[in-house]
Amino acid sequence: MYTRPLAKLIEEFQRLPGIGPKSAQRLAMHMLKRPEAEVRALATALVEAKQQVGQCSRCFHLSAEPVCNICLSQTRDPHTLCVVADSRDVIALEKTREYKGKYHVLGGLISPMDGIGPEQLNIGQLVHRVNKEGTGEVILAISPSIEGDTTTLYVGQLLKPFTRVTRIAFGLPMGGDLEYADEVTLARALEGRRELDT
Ligand SMILES: [Zn+2]
Repeated sequence: MYTRPLAKLIEEFQRLPGIGPKSAQRLAMHMLKRPEAEVRALATALVEAKQQVGQCSRCFHLSAEPVCNICLSQTRDPHTLCVVADSRDVIALEKTREYKGKYHVLGGLISPMDGIGPEQLNIGQLVHRVNKEGTGEVILAISPSIEGDTTTLYVGQLLKPFTRVTRIAFGLPMGGDLEYADEVTLARALEGRRELDT
């Protein structure tokens, strides 16, 4: 149906999340019509991002430096930690401009069905950090779902002996990612946080 290099390009686009065969075809055809310099810029950006972006060694947020800007910031409250599942959640919370503490990215949620236990996530590092840094409050900002609630309870129970543990208020959609909540909803959820019952 397609000439070989075009078939290959469509196949690669189709590997991307949310891209079906039709979208993959449309993207591939679109790229063929763009100037070569533009296509090269895209290819370079892909490879450079892949090579240069890693994880902050402290909070596990995406960072091109060993320690990210949020961790290095002198103006943010170092005694409040907001715990999230994924780096995308950090970005969603930063957009609200309400939160002035630091973060800890777990790197996923506990999901026995998918073989993901606490040891696959950055939970041990979180407990270590809370003790080392004398954290005064840990805010669990994990959206509600079976995996989210399991993770929230697990982490909450681990940390309660050491620090105050709160959970962001809901009104957030069940199973919805933080990144899909609008900024006002997310800011309210943060403001309305409550002590975690375990
Ligand atoms: Zn960091």
